[in-house]
Order: sequence, then C-alpha cells, then structure tokens
Amino acid sequence: MTSPPPMQPAAVPINERDRLAALRRFELLDTPPEAAFDQITRLAAKVLDAPIALISLIDENRQWFKSRIGLDARETPREFAFCAHALSSDGLFVVNDASLDARFAANPLVTGDPNIRFYAGAPLRTADGLALGTLCVIDRKARPSLSPVEEESLRDLSAMVMAHIEARRAVGYLHPLTALSNRFRFLKDIDAFLADAARLEDSGQPVPRAAIVVVDAAASHQYAELTRVLGQVSADAFEVDAARRIGENLPARAKLYHLSAARFACVLPDGEGADLEGTLGRLAATLRQPFLFQNVPFAASGGIGCTRCPGDGDGAGSVELLRAATSAAHQSLQEQKPWCRYDAVQDRASQRAFQVLRGLTDAFTARDQLSVLYQPKIDLRTNACVGAEALLRWTHPVLGPISPGEFVPLAERTALVRPLTEWVTTAVLSQVALWHGRGLRLPISINISMLDLASATFASRVAAMLDRHGVEAGWIDFEVTESALMMDRAEAGRQLDQLRHLGIEVEIDDFGTGQSALSYLKDIPATVVKIDQRFIRSLASERSDQIMVRSTIDLAHDLGYQVVAEGIETVAVYDWLRDHGCDIGQGYLMARPLTAPAFEGWLAAGGYSPVAREPA
Ligand code: C2E
Ligand code: MG
Ligand code: MG
Repeated sequence: MTSPPPMQPAAVPINERDRLAALRRFELLDTPPEAAFDQITRLAAKVLDAPIALISLIDENRQWFKSRIGLDARETPREFAFCAHALSSDGLFVVNDASLDARFAANPLVTGDPNIRFYAGAPLRTADGLALGTLCVIDRKARPSLSPVEEESLRDLSAMVMAHIEARRAVGYLHPLTALSNRFRFLKDIDAFLADAARLEDSGQPVPRAAIVVVDAAASHQYAELTRVLGQVSADAFEVDAARRIGENLPARAKLYHLSAARFACVLPDGEGADLEGTLGRLAATLRQPFLFQNVPFAASGGIGCTRCPGDGDGAGSVELLRAATSAAHQSLQEQKPWCRYDAVQDRASQRAFQVLRGLTDAFTARDQLSVLYQPKIDLRTNACVGAEALLRWTHPVLGPISPGEFVPLAERTALVRPLTEWVTTAVLSQVALWHGRGLRLPISINISMLDLASATFASRVAAMLDRHGVEAGWIDFEVTESALMMDRAEAGRQLDQLRHLGIEVEIDDFGTGQSALSYLKDIPATVVKIDQRFIRSLASERSDQIMVRSTIDLAHDLGYQVVAEGIETVAVYDWLRDHGCDIGQGYLMARPLTAPAFEGWLAAGGYSPVAREPA
C-alpha cells in the first residue's frame, strides 16, 4: 500500500488580519449553541442529504464549530480544516473524494474519524467581504458535484447564517431612535481597535490611529428644556435631524454612534486625506444652524471634543477615551469654541474641582476638616487690635489643605455657598459667645459671598443664628467682595439694608479689583472699604500704587467710609499707610491668621508691638 502524499494546508487569506479582527468583533467564538444556527445546519443536512453539517469559524489556529450536526468534536486544528480552503474561494468549495485529492488524502479527518470523503462549503462573508468561516456539509462517502439546485440551497442557507450573525450582533447595540450603533457598540469597537493596535505594536508593525470625536448636539439643559417645552416628540426629531447633519458631514470611512440624548460620537481613522480639523469645523457649522420644530427655531449650543486613539501613551481604555473626548466637548461648550482637543491639564483641573466640591459636602458634617483662623485688625495710629477677620481653613482627607482661594469660588458656582456661609457664621458665633463669656470682646468680620445676598431670607437667617448663640449683632460684620456672579442687585440691596438695620456693618472687600468699584460704593450700603492687597504689597516702592491708594483713601473718607488696608508685610508699608490716613491694617507684619487659642495668646502677649518688630 502506498502512503498518501503529505497534507497541503490552506493558504492564509491576504486580508487575514482584518478577517480575524472582524471575527472577534462578532463575538461568536466559544459561545454556547444557539437554536437559530442549529435549525439552519439541520436544514442543510436534510436538503443536501448529508450526515454532517457544520457552521465552522476559522480562528487563528483552529476551526471552531458554532453549530454541528453529526459530529462530536467542537473544534479541530486549522491545518486540518477543509473550511480554511473555502475561505479564499469565490463561490462554493467542493471536494468530491478527499481520499483522491492530494491536498486532503493525508488529512487525519480523512484517514481517521469522521472519514471525510465529500465536502461542500459556502463561505460566510461579512458585508465588506471578509470570510469568517463556512456553512458546510460533509459525507463519509464520495459524491458527484452538487446539482445547481443544491448549490443554490447551500448558498442561500449560508446567507441566512450570515444574516443571523449580523442581526445577533446588532441586538442591544443599536440606538432605537436613529438605528445608529449605541454606546455599548462604541465601547466594544474602541476596545477592539485598541487590542488590534497593541498587537501590531508588539509585533513591530505600523499601528492604526484614529481620532475619537464626541459631539454634543445641544447642551444638556437645552435638551431638557426642548423636551419640557415642545415635548419628547420634538426632542426625538431634534436628535434624528442632528444625526443626519452630523452623518452628512463625516468622511466616508468614519463611523457614527448615538451615545445618549443629543450625544453622538464618531471614530475618524487617520490616513490618506484625513482632514480632522476640516471635519470638526464642518460639524460645528452644521450644528450652529437653527433647528425648526412646529415653526419654532431652536438654536442649540453644543460642544465638540476629540481625543487620540490609542491615547497618548497612557494605556487608556475605551471608557477613559470616551470620558476624555466628552470632557473636551464640555470644554468646547464652556469656552464657546467650535471644538476642543482633549487637554490633560484642563481635565485634571476640572477633575480636581469635582473632587473638591464633592468633598466639601462631607466637610460640613465631618468634625475635623473645617476650622476658622482669626487675623487681627490693627488701628494704624494706636497699634491696638480692634477686631479680627475670620478666615476659613479646610484639610481634605485625601487632598490635604485646600486654600479658600480655591474652594470658595467653586462653592460659589454651586448651591454649596449657602451651607458654607452658615457653617462659618455658626463657628464664629460659637467662638464669639465663648470669648464674651471670658470677657474678650472684639468685633469679628465674616466673609460672605454676594450670592448669599441673592437669597431673600439671608438677613433673617443671620438674625436667627445671632439669637441662638446669644450674640449681639454689633459683634460681627460681613465682608463682601464684588462678584460678577451677582445677578440680583435689588435683592442684595434689600438684604444689606436689613443687615444694617440689625446692626451689622458691611465692609467692601478687595476694593479696587472689581470692574465697577465706584458704582459699587453707590449701591452697597457699606461703612468700610478694604483696599485689596495687590495695591498694598509694593506700596513702599511703586509710585502708581501710591497714587491709587492715596486717592482711594481720600475718596472713601470723603464719602464717609473707614479705610482698611490688607496685606501689610513691611514696616515701610505700615508707616506709609498710617502717614496717609489709612485707619486700619491687616497683614503678616502684625500677625498671620491664628487659631482661636493662638489669637488669645497673641493678645495676651501684648498684640502688635511695632518697636519689637522694627528690622535691625
Ligand atoms: P480675603 O477676604 O481678602 O482675605 C485676605 C486673604 O489675604 C487671606 O487669605 C489672608 O490669609 C491673606 N493675607 C492676610 N494678610 C496677608 C499678608 O500680609 N500677605 C499675604 N500674602 N496674604 C495675606 P486666605 O485666608 O487664603 O483667604 C483667601 C480668600 O478666600 C479671602 O480673601 C476670602 O475672599 C476667601 N475666604 C476665606 N475665608 C472665607 C469664608 O469663610 N467665607 C467666604 N465666603 N470666603 C472666604
Ligand atoms: Mg476678607
Ligand atoms: Mg480681601
């Protein structure tokens, strides 16, 4: 007996890399049997009168059977697979008698179990022409070629398998409104892209790159308002229209996803003719055109952000890349720019801001995070301490000490400024009540935000707090800083009048830094003006600062205000201010902000003594 010629393995298809990537994306390998596939293989076996019918997927080193009739094995090595030969054939791949075919005669599947003689397979091709495997029928006896009707049946059944594979992939991965791929699909596609890029990088091959773009067609509050005013049907129509406009402005190779309400994403592969900036500019322009609903024009102001995929060397996964692109879209909305690239520095700042704000809520109830320091205020003529300013301090459990210069402006952008002011006022009033009990009587200034004054109940809440602590109104005053955030000047005026009526003085803080300092003086019923430290710091040497400060002191005095200077760090500045008629001073020269016990100790030790501090 002559031994059969050696086996001839199938050639590897030229698009093998894309083919394997597509196979992975369909997520079929190693999944349990599914009735819909088994019905087709059963039908194939019956129609073609074959004992074995298989749906075989050709993986890198094996063929794996998604469905199998008449065969026990779940997989075989790829080198034995008849189906591997079928991948490269245009139509059906048929072997009439494998034992007589040089390519298969030595194949263990021919020489041993299941003793294949006849094979007919139809490739399972994706829409873009990649063959994942085959639907095939196998017989243990040699057979003549299939009849035209049988060929057609096998081809139709293979198309049914492929249609089912496609449909199976789409379930749960499409947005019901636009039928675009959804967020789950987006994340999976990006993960597949990243895995592919990593594999190529490892094998030293060129890595494909792309831009991930997030398009917010409208700001979230605008979308909510559209839904509220015109109803969900209009909001849906808006999304469909936005999807159409975006789609029309994308290059052919880009894929569009519908992530969530009014939020879309696309992946723009780098490469020949890729014009990212041009595409982003066109997207911004098309979304700027008003949308029309029931004859009502709706001008949305969204944002567009993009990031690189793979990320800039930090191994970011799909979720992180999506977050980065969304953050850039948010920045584009905030800064009213047509689009923004992801900016790691800016992103870290906004993540920190978020962490700070989240921590602040806990800080109000934690016992050991917030505290108040007291910085003495000195009468410049007598050197006596005439009061102190309460300054809030916060030690975050993870981030450590955070300056009020950082967290107060953040709190002012949220609803947190009100509990912040209440926390400080309560802490100061408890301390003042304690000091009064011990005979220490000095007025304490509390910093408040202009936003506090927008609340119609602010003055009455302060009055209630004073009552609760048994402190007379004259022992506290409020420092307010002009703020661009103040919207309701009339309400602020009413609150300030009520505070004055209670007997609480108001100081204008950081005077000279606002944009309308003079009109401010007219509107705000204050009694004290605090000149901002940026004019004080280099007062002894800067002539322009001297002119500004001197005229501010004169103007304020003419209008009947007392003048305080903050940020005094040298004796020369102290002396200059005293000589030019400034009433009160505050600064590191006299004392830094002190804890309550340290403040008491400082007072007991005689307070500020200019002689002792005079430099040698
Ligand atoms: P501000 O009210 O103008 O307070 C003066 C700031 O200057 C304080 O900074 C103080 O420590 C600092 N300072 C005082 N003397 C000197 C000096 O000689 N040199 C220098 N370089 N700095 C000096 P701090 O405590 O960091 O507070 C910053 C700002 O945060 C305050 O400015 C105020 O606007 C705000 N803030 C502080 N505590 C509170 C609070 O309880 N509530 C509110 N709403 N804002 C607060
Ligand atoms: Mg202040
Ligand atoms: Mg100030």
